[in-house]
Amino acid sequence: MTKYVFVTGGVVSGLGKGIAAASLGLILKSRGLNVINQKFDPYLNIDPGTMNPCQHGEVFVTDDGAETDLDLGHYERFTDAALSQSSNTTAGRVYLTILNREREGGYEGGTVQVIPNVTDEIRKRILLPAQETNADVIITEIGGTVGDIESLPFIEAIRQIKYEVGIENCAYIHLTLLPYMKKAQELKSKPTQHSVKDLQGLGIQPDIIMLRSEMPVDFSTKEKLALFCNVATDCIIQNLNAKSIYEVPLMMEKEGLGKAVCKCLGIENKETNLKEWEKIVYKLYNSKKQVNIALVGKYTELHDAYLSVVESLTHAGIFNDAEVVIDWISSEKITGDAAAKKLLSGADGIIVPGGFGDRGIEGMIATAKYARENKVPYFGICLGMQIMVIEYARNVLNLKKANSTEMDKNTPHPVIDLMPDQNGVILGGTLRLGKYECTLSKDSIAQKAYKNPLIWERHRHRYEFNNVYREQFTKSTMKIAGINSERNLVEIVELDKTEKHPWMLGVQFHPEFKSRPDRAHPLFRDFIKASLEGKK
Ligand code: GLN
Repeated sequence: MTKYVFVTGGVVSGLGKGIAAASLGLILKSRGLNVINQKFDPYLNIDPGTMNPCQHGEVFVTDDGAETDLDLGHYERFTDAALSQSSNTTAGRVYLTILNREREGGYEGGTVQVIPNVTDEIRKRILLPAQETNADVIITEIGGTVGDIESLPFIEAIRQIKYEVGIENCAYIHLTLLPYMKKAQELKSKPTQHSVKDLQGLGIQPDIIMLRSEMPVDFSTKEKLALFCNVATDCIIQNLNAKSIYEVPLMMEKEGLGKAVCKCLGIENKETNLKEWEKIVYKLYNSKKQVNIALVGKYTELHDAYLSVVESLTHAGIFNDAEVVIDWISSEKITGDAAAKKLLSGADGIIVPGGFGDRGIEGMIATAKYARENKVPYFGICLGMQIMVIEYARNVLNLKKANSTEMDKNTPHPVIDLMPDQNGVILGGTLRLGKYECTLSKDSIAQKAYKNPLIWERHRHRYEFNNVYREQFTKSTMKIAGINSERNLVEIVELDKTEKHPWMLGVQFHPEFKSRPDRAHPLFRDFIKASLEGKK
């Protein structure tokens, strides 16, 4: 029998519902339960794939190629489950399904309405993971804040569902803000009371209230909220600010979240095993070394735009016993060789992550040149790999105006070009997405890292290394270290040994989606290792 936990948010957005839901996933998993997290986003985009990363943060990609909300990254990193298309649903997708069905005559002349048609579709999607997997518990996070107009159908659906699956199989968690008034030296519970009233007005009585607070929540505040909100005092859980998100599950377990959820769901509160996780947090907080990594990109004003890259760097730091300090550099500031030298001279390693469009491209190319010439470890991811290829073409192969056709349609040397089957279509949902195999070349730094001749990684791109130029590169000192043999696509490039560069590698895929705190991704791990060695 699958059990269901619903996580809603109140008072303000940005409380870390995703981290809370992911933490719950981990602490239930640590009781031996099979847990799947999913997220429902009330906005009307079909998926976040076409949204500006500066607004919405990174697009997380699953094995099966779903472009999803960044919270899915937290879920995967905390619970180590591989999520899928069914793990993230937007209102847009729900409506698209319904409207297509209506056009096909699927409603047989009936009026199509929010209730029951939209709520039915949402309910169906909430139950989907239970049919696809053998999950004991499904944790469903509802994006947005209770009271938003657009989240109403989702709240109504999670209200209805308890009658479908049984009240005893559902638990409702409401996460709110408990503001601290400095002047009065008091935590204020009123916004939470109002938010819970809103939720009750929509027919949902929360079983557990989680309080985001910068101050420890005293017992009398808990009692007061318990009384006003009809919630048992041991189900009022404080959720304090943590130095690292990885500490949150440990704090939540200590606060009794796991116990409270088990009680609500009528499941045995088995002993937990969070030893490995404790080790991770200990290592994170007690690293002996430090390494400075310059992250050069075009969305640097919102760090969430590179969330999985940042987490992967942290994981690699944990592995290498080093704190990774990121220097966020907007590529537009790197206006030439002199600016590159000025802005990058403090970096032990340089990373150029993914991106779209031509803004800031020349700065990234100058960055790759600086890294190559000054023998600073360089890791190019997706666009960062394409940049590494363009830079090499221009400055080593002397193909002066080499470019990607994404940036310059008329370049005389399109070393990066549309994939043959893209047909020039550049709309939403036309990217090469999800997991693909890659065969690694013998004696490459990539193979040395993976210790495996055949790997698979997740992709999200439209452009590719142009095979017409392959020989020119390999005759020189750029090595093709990974190939998708099915379509003969170049997936990894690196500088060969004769260059005596410590570590310069670019990957067409996104390794950051597969890194885990206890299993640093091999490429991030070795990139940080090389950056640390360079320091000596
Ligand atoms: N814009 C490039 C492409 O579409 C790179 C994409 C990315 O970095 N994710 O191929």
